[in-house]
Amino acid sequence: MKKINFLIFLFLIVILANFSSAHQKSIQVKINEDGTSTEKILWKIEVKEFFSFFPVGSWRIPIPKEADEIKVSDKYGNLAFSIAESSEKYNLIVFKNSKRIYYTSDYFFNIEYKLKRNPIFYEPKFFYKRTFSRSPTDDSFSLSIALPENSQIRYLKENPLNQYIKDSSIILEYNLSINETKTIEIEFNITGFSPDLGIFLSPEPNLVEINSNYYEAVLPERYANYYASILKKADVGVEFIERSYGFPSPYRWKIEIIGFDDLDFEVHTEGFYLGDGRIRIKTTNLQKTEKEILYTLLHETIHGFNSKFFSESVPNFWWEEGTAQYISFLVLENLSYNMTEEKNEIFNLLESCKNIDKTFISTWSPNYYIRNNGEINCNNTKSDFVSLGYANSYFIVDNIVKYFGNDIFKKFYQTAEKIQINFSSDRSILNNQMNYVLSNATKHEFTSTLEAFGIEVKQVTNQEEYLTPILTGLPILEEDKTNKILAFIIVLTLVVSLIIFLIIKTRK
Ligand SMILES: [Zn+2]
Repeated sequence: MKKINFLIFLFLIVILANFSSAHQKSIQVKINEDGTSTEKILWKIEVKEFFSFFPVGSWRIPIPKEADEIKVSDKYGNLAFSIAESSEKYNLIVFKNSKRIYYTSDYFFNIEYKLKRNPIFYEPKFFYKRTFSRSPTDDSFSLSIALPENSQIRYLKENPLNQYIKDSSIILEYNLSINETKTIEIEFNITGFSPDLGIFLSPEPNLVEINSNYYEAVLPERYANYYASILKKADVGVEFIERSYGFPSPYRWKIEIIGFDDLDFEVHTEGFYLGDGRIRIKTTNLQKTEKEILYTLLHETIHGFNSKFFSESVPNFWWEEGTAQYISFLVLENLSYNMTEEKNEIFNLLESCKNIDKTFISTWSPNYYIRNNGEINCNNTKSDFVSLGYANSYFIVDNIVKYFGNDIFKKFYQTAEKIQINFSSDRSILNNQMNYVLSNATKHEFTSTLEAFGIEVKQVTNQEEYLTPILTGLPILEEDKTNKILAFIIVLTLVVSLIIFLIIKTRK
């Protein structure tokens, strides 16, 4: 009898648990003056049909990976939750409703957490960036962002639906339609009013210097610990590059994060190699994921390694950007990061743009195309020569490694060193030199290989042609000679002194 009751009960549940429901989400963001932000999500569950209810079951919501101090509650109190990985930038918080949710109940979840590096704060400027999405099940959706008191907005990427001031804070309200994703960017300043001086004063950032084995960086103190942990990983990366290239790090790297300027917003690349071991990183880069920050650092470090052979007057080209990307990916994979998404992005772009004439890569340089960029239409996918140039550069280096192995970099630089080649600032000579060095390093005629990648080269018939006008190294040889002469003089002096000493001793 009990069994039958139970079966009837189960049957009723199946009938009654009709999941016709509506979700109402409202997200309230409070940007704090200390460079953190708090997000509160009020998630209301409404059962639409009188006889329906939600049994106790799992709910999930994506939140940014760096979310901290997470709290989940429902209308009855705190809820236990677990975290599941969802994507590169988001985690899913998973929790259960503590009671059934009926038609009549005014049921809600409250989810709260803190983001430590959003906005990025470099006194007196703040930069906030966050992507929000409205899911198809969100019947209603509202988003409001409160700025700290006394903020002055400098830039807004998306115009809000409403903007008003409440308790001396600017409030921005946004509306998203179903399935819409919006990236909100807000740049603002806070300057404090000094009653004594009668003027607004810009606070100064508290900058500190942090050091690792290979790097030193100057940045606001609030990011120091976080960045130090990243530099430790970058150190492992430098050791990896040393092994791949077969020569020690040519510099102790100096990282400059100099505060927001126009570059932070106008320029496409996250970092720049400035020469002499100096790496400039955009301030907004601090807001990226650990993997992205490391990637930028390693990419620029590889430019620095390359600069041992390719001076600054040598234009940026496929080898430069190809190695910077390829080796960074390799290092990150060695540090257990998953690079599948990044690689897929490159190969998908190459696939959709496979009909574009590849010979542009011969004289490609990102700086030129960043300035004079035009869109290209690849098989209905919009792209540009900057992205396509990077993708092709990666592809070339990736293929060279596939054919000739991971030690190709070491062989390449050993050959360049041995023949004392001075790479030319003329692009066509440079490509012929690359052909010459690669051919020598691999004992393989590289002309057709490079031509297949779109690089215009001449076959190396007479090596003198490539070496004679560009052979330098005399200053280096002279320096070597002086060192040898000096060493010889020291040894000779020692030997003579020893002989004199022995003669004196035996006479006694
Ligand atoms: Zn680069």
